[in-house]
Amino acid sequence: MRIGVDLGGTKIEAVGLDREGRTLARVRRATPRDDYDATLDAIASVVGEIEGSAGSRGTVGVGMPGALSRATGRVKNSNSTWLNGRTLAEDLEGRLGRSIRFANDANCFALSEAVDGAAAGAGAVFGVILGTGTGGGLVFGGRIWTGPNAIAGEWGHNPLPWPRDDERPGPPCYCGLSGCIETFLSGPGLSRDHRRATGQALDAAEIASRAAGGDPLALATLGRHEERMARALASVINLLDPDVIVLGGGLSNLDRLYARVPTLWGAWVFSDRVDTRLVAPKHGDSSGVRGAAWLWGPGEG
Ligand SMILES: [Zn+2]
Repeated sequence: MRIGVDLGGTKIEAVGLDREGRTLARVRRATPRDDYDATLDAIASVVGEIEGSAGSRGTVGVGMPGALSRATGRVKNSNSTWLNGRTLAEDLEGRLGRSIRFANDANCFALSEAVDGAAAGAGAVFGVILGTGTGGGLVFGGRIWTGPNAIAGEWGHNPLPWPRDDERPGPPCYCGLSGCIETFLSGPGLSRDHRRATGQALDAAEIASRAAGGDPLALATLGRHEERMARALASVINLLDPDVIVLGGGLSNLDRLYARVPTLWGAWVFSDRVDTRLVAPKHGDSSGVRGAAWLWGPGEG
């Protein structure tokens, strides 16, 4: 059995998958925020519950916000800030008495969709999380590409490419720079752009719902968002030329993206035609936890 744990900021979810990817058991509980030791306890206990209900021991993979620094082994870049600077791998391996694999949650999402999801069988997959932030992960040949800085795929903090005059310098980003892709494409970025254009303070879901009802202001905001996404993804295609780009996170529910963005990105892709597929996720909210389980490949563990 492969056990995947998705360590989120608000909930910890675990699944046990059999060899074919079928779910044997699933457990979910609230994350003990701001309490590192209680977080370790909670992860150990969900693994124990999965093993108890499946009746067997499993390999364990953990998807987490942020990454483990290759240099220090400590957590970095996590918005679950009580994990930052902690020796999570060492501490959890001690509690569970086995070797554990860790990956960033966007990487787990990309892996899940590449193994048996919307990008199954594709050689190169770029997975994008469009939610409160804009993360990304790369899978080549069924394996996550992490990179020496553990930031491969973090396109959200590149600048929005081919900016127009009214997009410069762009909104300030929490990373310290301005005009990052995330400040335009994330849910809060979409909301901010709508407010700037119309004076209306609406969240992304409300803008989408008004657009579906034909509201011209909301439709214009989604149009700007799609055109910016086309530019941002064109720069990814020019660099990596993935077979499939799969979207996840809350904004991946915007069905219009899959039809419209591929009609726009050709203007910036350095090719006479673009055969890259832009697809919706197959496993939805379960992709993070499934990808964590697949950190142990076929024949391992
Ligand atoms: Zn940034």
